Amino acid sequence: MKFIEPHGHMVSRTTDDYTKLALSGCMAVCEPAFWAGFDRATAAGFYDYFRQLTYVEPARALKFGLRHYCWLCINPKEADDPVFAREVMSLIPEFLKANNVLGIGEIGLNKNTRNELLIFEEHVQLALLHDLPILIHTPHLEDKRKGTRLMLDALANFPKLAREKVIIDHVEEHTIASVLDQGYWAGMTLYPDSKCSPNRAIDMVELYGKERIWMNSACDWGHSDPLAVPKCALEMRKREHSDEEIEKIIYHNPIHFLNQSPNFARDFPTLNPST
Ligand SMILES: [Zn+2]
Repeated sequence: MKFIEPHGHMVSRTTDDYTKLALSGCMAVCEPAFWAGFDRATAAGFYDYFRQLTYVEPARALKFGLRHYCWLCINPKEADDPVFAREVMSLIPEFLKANNVLGIGEIGLNKNTRNELLIFEEHVQLALLHDLPILIHTPHLEDKRKGTRLMLDALANFPKLAREKVIIDHVEEHTIASVLDQGYWAGMTLYPDSKCSPNRAIDMVELYGKERIWMNSACDWGHSDPLAVPKCALEMRKREHSDEEIEKIIYHNPIHFLNQSPNFARDFPTLNPST
């Protein structure tokens, strides 16, 4: 079964993980810029991280037969100092020339602070300026509902924003409806301990439908499973979803969304957007 891993932090993973992904039918991995497990001390630390995402990691992935794409931003965990955040953001336009960049992400909120929200809005402006899709991280646990609402309210203040070019990731049962109702895409993150289990994700698919939804493993430096998406596909099959329905969610839907980015559409040009 073919699938796209639309949100995986591959710089944290081993070569064995790449091998397992390739053997499981993964056709491409997409890596949002995020926290690396520690706060970077300088903007130069992000410069090197962006080099890794745009030039080093794609070459590593290719050795395993996998295409690698990335999203660029300063993540919300390190964006509470606006002066520092803007210094990092000033580096981004240079890297947008790289041929594996999909858009701006994963931006969002961490502790729902005013400074985080300010930098979130400035990232949205940056995406609009370059006509790029946006990938949004939502906060964990008790901050998730409030953070999601704050960001939906902020996004509503951008009348030129095409909502179909925005995906709000890590949705859970208490946030998915508001995201889909307002015309955005919703990402479900399959984690062993937190966020969303495969069966909870499938429950949400059964409740809210298969449109404008994708699944990802996030596979980062913490406890996570790069094969969470194909494992969830097996669970879907057990629950009598057809192969066509499964492939729509784990392959065609991500391609449909990501084809709004010219770099992705160049490599996956055969998609019929209506599937
Ligand atoms: Zn992430």
